[in-house]
Amino acid sequence: MKLRLLSLYPDQMNIYADRGNILFLQHRCEWRGIEFEVTRCGPGQRFDPANYDLLYMGGGQDRDQKAVARDLIETKQASMRAAKDGGVAVLAVCGGYQLLGESYELEGETIAGLGLVDLKTIREPGPRLIGPVSISVNLDGEEKVLAGFENHGGRTRLGQASPLGKVIHGHGNNGEDGFEGVREDNLIGTYLHGPLLPKNAWLADHLIATGLEHHHGERPELEPLEDSLETAAHEAALKAARKG
Ligand code: GLN
Repeated sequence: MKLRLLSLYPDQMNIYADRGNILFLQHRCEWRGIEFEVTRCGPGQRFDPANYDLLYMGGGQDRDQKAVARDLIETKQASMRAAKDGGVAVLAVCGGYQLLGESYELEGETIAGLGLVDLKTIREPGPRLIGPVSISVNLDGEEKVLAGFENHGGRTRLGQASPLGKVIHGHGNNGEDGFEGVREDNLIGTYLHGPLLPKNAWLADHLIATGLEHHHGERPELEPLEDSLETAAHEAALKAARKG
């Protein structure tokens, strides 16, 4: 079996070492004897969605987002839509998540997003939404918890799209409606960044299984791994979120 990951804007959108999430996916595949291939896709580059099973876009400062937003639409929009419609797994984090939506409005300027999912982000007056966060999520018919860290000035509001989860502790999409992230088909957007996957190994395995199903046509039963460090990281993140 083989998982083919496309890393979008790895040099521009990788704040808080989002790169580590890709390494974590790689190790969890290789420990199970699953081949893992990463392809980088930066400004000006196009991609064929038929060649990938999992797309990853990390977070970025406002200026990084501005720099990639136009390129994203010009060179990648059609492929991104085809990938989503074709069941490719997508994980977009923080700044990447915001760019999946219709637009990101800040300081009198509107950055157009990909319009892949019905959501909008606005930088409203008020403090940045920063801190440890935990959310309850139901991805495979089972209620689970994601724990992590958020740091965003933009407030995201969902239109017709469904949230990834409900906030237990922290701010979530906008600090008001109790929702966090977005989920549609096999696409996930979230504000939880930095080592999201090492702290939530179950989400990494969900993405791996979804990607392998896309490539091989059948959802595999993944071999369990020795996860004592990952469990400890998850517990520590949960504890931090409870303390606020
Ligand atoms: N620039 C965006 C915001 O502040 C996203 C930040 C991030 O990716 N950390 O809302």
